[in-house]
Amino acid sequence: MKGKVQRMATILIIEDEAPILTGLEDALLAEGYEVMTASNGELGLKTALQEKTELILLDIMLPKLNGFDLISQFRQKNKTTPIIMLTAKGQERDKIKGFALGADDYVTKPFSVKELTARVKAVLKRSLQTAPAVAEYVLEGIHFDFKALKARKAQQEIALSPREYDLLRYLIEHKGEVISRAQILQAIWQYDLENTPTTRTIDNYIVKLRQKVEKKPDQPRHILTVHGKGYRFEE
Ligand code: CA
Repeated sequence: MKGKVQRMATILIIEDEAPILTGLEDALLAEGYEVMTASNGELGLKTALQEKTELILLDIMLPKLNGFDLISQFRQKNKTTPIIMLTAKGQERDKIKGFALGADDYVTKPFSVKELTARVKAVLKRSLQTAPAVAEYVLEGIHFDFKALKARKAQQEIALSPREYDLLRYLIEHKGEVISRAQILQAIWQYDLENTPTTRTIDNYIVKLRQKVEKKPDQPRHILTVHGKGYRFEE
């Protein structure tokens, strides 16, 4: 069984207004997180690239390098650390721009400590659920490349939809664990609220995935149904 003890995440705060920076730092330390700080964009980017952090709180209006440029340069280096933007009230366009560049969430200033820590917890939970990322996997002689979204067995290519890749990877990343349909919904469809499927759709995805992955799809050995609970992946 997996232990429930959670390692405390390290959070990097990039903010130039000293009172806000101090307030955030105190609040997060009180919650038990490790905290690093940077008071301008340039230093923030450098710290984000060099240090291992689980989450970044990022102000947008920053000296030396603004928050948008920081997100964009950080993501260009294939860095997936989640970023929560600290945006000013009424700056709707900032949020949209930030999301487009690769931010994960935002809080609007002025925010309460309670609201901020709730967001931090939610974003960390989401990102920890998807880690560690599996890049490649071999199953029943099929080589899956989750980065290139390619699958082949011997010389034969096997076609999977992007969602099928996401689903398979999610199951592999949680192998041995019972995964509920609700967990799958949240993990795979969370950013696509308009196309959120029913749990029935998930079952259909599982059936399709078995047809592509399992030697005997009607007697699956890897993608198993756990009656009344969901699914479990076994090697
Ligand atoms: Ca600022």
